[in-house]
Amino acid sequence: MIDQIYQSVVARDPGQPEFHQAVKEVFDSLAVVIEKRPKYRKFKILERIAEPERVVMFRVPWEDDSGEIHVNRGFRIEMNSAIGPYKGGLRFHPSVNLSILKFLAFEQVFKNSLTTLPMGGGKGGSDFDPKGKSDAEVMRFCQSFMMELFRHIGPDTDVPAGDIGVGGREIGYLFGMYKRLRNEFTGVLTGKGLKWGGSLIRPEATGYGQVYFAQEMLKTRGKSFNGLTCLVSGSGNVAQFCTEKVLDLGGKVVTLSDSSGYIYDEEGIDREKLAYVMELKNVKRGRMREYVEKYPKAVYTPVDPDQDYNPLWNHKADVALPSATQNEINAKDAQHLINNGVFCVSEGANMPTTADGVDIFLDNKILYGPGKAANAGGVATSGLEMSQNSMRMSWTREEVDKKLHGIMINIHQAAMNAANEFGMKDNYVAGANIAGFMKVADAMIDQGIV
Ligand code: NAP
Repeated sequence: MIDQIYQSVVARDPGQPEFHQAVKEVFDSLAVVIEKRPKYRKFKILERIAEPERVVMFRVPWEDDSGEIHVNRGFRIEMNSAIGPYKGGLRFHPSVNLSILKFLAFEQVFKNSLTTLPMGGGKGGSDFDPKGKSDAEVMRFCQSFMMELFRHIGPDTDVPAGDIGVGGREIGYLFGMYKRLRNEFTGVLTGKGLKWGGSLIRPEATGYGQVYFAQEMLKTRGKSFNGLTCLVSGSGNVAQFCTEKVLDLGGKVVTLSDSSGYIYDEEGIDREKLAYVMELKNVKRGRMREYVEKYPKAVYTPVDPDQDYNPLWNHKADVALPSATQNEINAKDAQHLINNGVFCVSEGANMPTTADGVDIFLDNKILYGPGKAANAGGVATSGLEMSQNSMRMSWTREEVDKKLHGIMINIHQAAMNAANEFGMKDNYVAGANIAGFMKVADAMIDQGIV
């Protein structure tokens, strides 16, 4: 029966493989829940939850510095508002399309529910590539994007944030244009600058939360990060603060990457090297290959498009912390991780592991925290930013970090409890899907057929 519903999702939108992958993973986990709670069947919750409440697509014309006109496509997927306003990031990357954004919006619904904060799920973005663009070009693009998006969002309707390609600079330009168009200063976006409504710890939150989640998983086996070697992918917002928190907890990070290649630094990326990476990526907007010019003992390996695995995942280590993008660990990579001694994987990126890669982790009974649970610290802290904006006050760094840490501990517990209750002990994938689903499903039933 669940398979039939899944097949109808595929038949309705055949060209959306990433969305199908995300739906299948959730539906597979829910079979046992639907069997035990027939009300979800009666109210057609699966059919409804897999269909966005609203999809907005729009033209984004903008002019580059030489006066040439470009046209990109903008999107906002308003997936589910049963437990709160739509909430989820904006991604600017050339690979962005409807399938990727629907997968991200779908995941967001369950993730936001897991945080225990009142947030529905959404996601948006554009196929615009900020790489190599001047600040003025990025500003003109953001302004044009907001000139359409503003009519669909609002602090009680839909609250976007950052994601790949959308950091503090982009949020600033987007917020400025929203404020001008609406003539109001509200918490319509999260990830704002500290001087104009942003929350302390929001930039750090996803990476910190990913490591807090891993720490909870490690505790179940009586272990800590102290002395563990970690493989981290990406070198953006999530990867940077994930690395920082691993260092805080006494672990060692030996890899970082971008879409052109990765570095392996056997001695470990210490605080000084991390500060260099932050400056390189956030200020100079440079490439990871420059790391080996500064630290020649490290090795840089460029991406080889003919290779069917990613060599970053083929080094001796204890923990893997994927923090770049979707489907960056395939079955071969997953097997390499196991062969190299990795026994804990905590996902900062969204859906970084393919379905057959996930099966390998589950079959080998390693500690595996799926992105939906492990990277929920980012949106949870966005929720805290919304609360601070509504109260027109701001909490200290320590207060926000403590709340974030508490939320990650609770998410870990909720996923573990749900997995145990439905007979899938230690399966955080099933646990996160089930715990996230039930709250949304019950709210949908309470609110009638809408
Ligand atoms: P970011 O700051 O833009 O950094 C993204 C990093 O991943 C960059 O190093 C980028 O390399 C690399 N990357 C992007 N696309 C890639 C591809 N197709 N192949 C290989 N590498 C690629 O973005 P971020 O905010 O750190 O997001 C990273 C991941 O975390 C995403 O999956 C995002 O959805 C997820 N996430 C983010 C947050 C958040 O709060 N930011 C919250 C939850 C989940 P280049 O520099 O070469 O592009």
